[in-house]
Amino acid sequence: TDLQKHFPIRRGLLQRQVGAVQAVDGLTFTVKRGETLSLVGESGCGKTTTGRLLTRLIEPTGGTITLDGRDITHLSASAMRPMRRDIQMIFQDPYGSLNPRHTVGAIIGAPFRLQKVKTEHGVKRAVQELLELVGLSPEHYNRYPHEFSGGQRQRIGIARTLALRPKVIVADEPVSALDVSIQAQVVNLMEDLQNEFDLTYVMIAHDLSVVRHVSDRVAVMYLGKIMEIADRTSLYERPMHPYTVALLSAVPIPDTNRRDNRERIRLSGDVPSPINPPSGCRFHTRCWKAQEVCKTTEPPLAELAPGHQAACHFPENTTKLTIDPTGSAA
Ligand code: SF4
Repeated sequence: TDLQKHFPIRRGLLQRQVGAVQAVDGLTFTVKRGETLSLVGESGCGKTTTGRLLTRLIEPTGGTITLDGRDITHLSASAMRPMRRDIQMIFQDPYGSLNPRHTVGAIIGAPFRLQKVKTEHGVKRAVQELLELVGLSPEHYNRYPHEFSGGQRQRIGIARTLALRPKVIVADEPVSALDVSIQAQVVNLMEDLQNEFDLTYVMIAHDLSVVRHVSDRVAVMYLGKIMEIADRTSLYERPMHPYTVALLSAVPIPDTNRRDNRERIRLSGDVPSPINPPSGCRFHTRCWKAQEVCKTTEPPLAELAPGHQAACHFPENTTKLTIDPTGSAA
């Protein structure tokens, strides 16, 4: 709720703060049990920072994070330890995220050993079961990461994540470093595991074709804010925010029988700096619909259709054009 992460910029001998990178600036969203919510947007939009905040790898500068009704925002490291079992992260880089000097048994067994929840014999058995669960062999227990392909390494990362049977998994671009031919296998594995263990995923991604396949709901981020959030069908078929419309205009239509007559929208300019983001609507410097009000007044994230929220003064695909400052549409 109202989650914020500003990274201070310091200069000079005294390291005085001269500004801040507003990486995440006031996000409010919920993730329902068993669903997959994807966070999408161009690089620098704050999606990875959001994932790291949710898993408490970094501390927020504002707002709260609630897991199963419990505020975990400011839990100490020791109070957080049992909660760590519930919320885990899969990292993007299957090459860099596994310690090359550790065996697979040591890597996947680490969460058990850290949490001291099993005997050494129990750890070995549990790791071998996890290896089978992710499509690897128990024989791989004593091997090292360099002996595996990228897809297999990501499976090892997933097995490590699953060790403590988490409720929520934040997956940061879990397939983007893999060959396209391997991506589908890993995505399918994650879906199977979700069904088997009732997992909740927060998926961080930029490939909108993959997102369409895996998500129940999608949140589109721009410069540290949510621009639009909706269920998958609603977002892909009736996008309301001009930024979403532009992103989707570049995504191929999967149905080859339908002619793709859509106009490709090329956004002008680069994403502005998050150190000094534009006033009003943060997207106004690149939006083809921008008007004077967009430069001065930030549009609230308002529910414009059931379960479909967008932050825009002049949304697309809706007849609801009047938005009051409390965030409700008329
Ligand atoms: Fe574009 Fe204005 Fe909507 Fe922002 S509020 S997306 S600038 S139309």
